[in-house]
Amino acid sequence: MKKPDLPAGRDFSPTLLDFGPLQIYLARHFGFCYGVENAIEIAFKTVEENPGKRIFLLSEMIHNPQVNADLQSHGVQFMQDTYGQQLIAFDELQKEDVVIIPAFGTTLEIEKKLRDIGIQTEKYNTTCPFVEKVWNRSEAIAKQNYTVVIHGKPKHEETRATFSHASSNAPSVVVKDMNEAKELAKYITGEKPATDFYASFKGQYSKGFDAEKDLQRIGVVNQTTMLASDTQAIADFLKKVMIETFHHADPQERFADTRDTLCYATNDNQTAVSGMLETEAHLAIVVGGYNSSNTSHLVELCEENLPTFFINNEEKILSAKEILHFNFHIKEEVTTNDWLPVKQPLKVLLTSGASCPDALVEGVINKLISFHHSTLTTEQLIEQFQ
Ligand code: SF4
Repeated sequence: MKKPDLPAGRDFSPTLLDFGPLQIYLARHFGFCYGVENAIEIAFKTVEENPGKRIFLLSEMIHNPQVNADLQSHGVQFMQDTYGQQLIAFDELQKEDVVIIPAFGTTLEIEKKLRDIGIQTEKYNTTCPFVEKVWNRSEAIAKQNYTVVIHGKPKHEETRATFSHASSNAPSVVVKDMNEAKELAKYITGEKPATDFYASFKGQYSKGFDAEKDLQRIGVVNQTTMLASDTQAIADFLKKVMIETFHHADPQERFADTRDTLCYATNDNQTAVSGMLETEAHLAIVVGGYNSSNTSHLVELCEENLPTFFINNEEKILSAKEILHFNFHIKEEVTTNDWLPVKQPLKVLLTSGASCPDALVEGVINKLISFHHSTLTTEQLIEQFQ
């Protein structure tokens, strides 16, 4: 996996929080993005504006257990889990109910279902503008007769929503990684017969997709939280395949330029991790929800360089000897002993995903300080910066 390049002219170096025996290098950009802040604000405003009404969220607001638990404690009910499993049936809804669309957006089919019941979907729609930007971009390339290739996790809410919007305008197919992009390329070049396409991409192509006809002009968009460098590598690869296969003088005749569908927050958080990794340290901690796509990509970047612990709050740091952390490769929480090396000073890299409140990062810092007898508290350190 290629690390995002550090752009010239912007500072992506980490901030050093120097507690003496403990040195924490905090990523220059981390945590909440505009889309998440906006969604949380709208959700709490919805609760305030609708006393006595039943309020539903189509699925988790964002991939953060604390924020979601907070909303549930205010009476908000989730209709689906993150994998699209229905927890509350749509026919239990009444037109007086309030339904909030989460930051990832939703499919056109679900929007229609809600409208048919009489629920106004536009009123409490928290779809992030950066996700909408991807939809608009897919619509624009669809109008130019390109097939939309979506780089994303096929089951992720945002990818399902983008697929639904894209496939209402053009043939569409989801590729989850470079291996699938290479598989797709075999149907573009004719290395594999078009008839095999439907088994290879089962559940990932739009209705009526014609593998012979619909892979002649393509454009790539992405789930905004994928690793930007991975999307770029997939787009570059498919562009090369199109040029080599169709020998067209103008590459845009076969491949749409869609470079602007990356979300700034995901990009900045990923680039800041690259900047942070230039500092030598003993370990890295990444804070965020375990089912958060953007957070797991930050973990991937860190663990290529040094021991990395993915936790969703400071309570997972059981002691200076023991930590409970998420191994996203096997999707399980595991315990590691003697995780904190005895070094003076101990150097720790720290970042968090786009759906992680800053208070959780502060909690982790305080927990680490408590093991190191620092003479400074977080507050005193913050005062130094001010
Ligand atoms: S990560 Fe980007 S696209 Fe996703 S909610 Fe945040 S700002 Fe929007």
